[in-house]
Amino acid sequence: MSVLKVLKIGNPLLRKKSLDISETEVATKEFKKLVRDMFDTMRYEGGVGLAAPQIGILKRVVVVGAENNEKYENSGEIPEHVLINPIITPLESSLRGFWEGCLSVPEMRGYVERPSKIKMEWYDHKWNFHSEVIEGFRAVVYQHECDHLDGIIYVDRLKDTKLFGYLDSLELKEDDTLD
Ligand code: ZN
Repeated sequence: MSVLKVLKIGNPLLRKKSLDISETEVATKEFKKLVRDMFDTMRYEGGVGLAAPQIGILKRVVVVGAENNEKYENSGEIPEHVLINPIITPLESSLRGFWEGCLSVPEMRGYVERPSKIKMEWYDHKWNFHSEVIEGFRAVVYQHECDHLDGIIYVDRLKDTKLFGYLDSLELKEDDTLD
């Protein structure tokens, strides 16, 4: 198991745009190791998602999943997936608000509104193409993680800077939060 260091906000790599990945690259040993290490790191840190730029790799790959994460009652909603070159298309103008957290912004939470229903298109680690309509908690996680591939952190999308702070100082209900 390899747990990698997660970069924190302020590191310039988190603000760069990541590059597309090719089918040839996905088949390499190095790429397979990268994906394994990303899952190890996400699970170790107790996150529901991790994007490659968060470990300093500027490539368009995200891992998500919370199948055995005790922190989330609704974790069954987030099956484990590798999302390569993901594309998001919002399907509804209605927004859903959520208190988001991020492994790159430890101990903080902020209220962000995002489209509640999206179309997700991506390649998996075997280069199968997927297209799926996604709603709810999972749609929040996917949008948050894919933002990292464009150098965007959830704090850029705060609805109100007053709705941001340390988790232990905010008065939140458990089921409203994500990290
Ligand atoms: Zn994040």
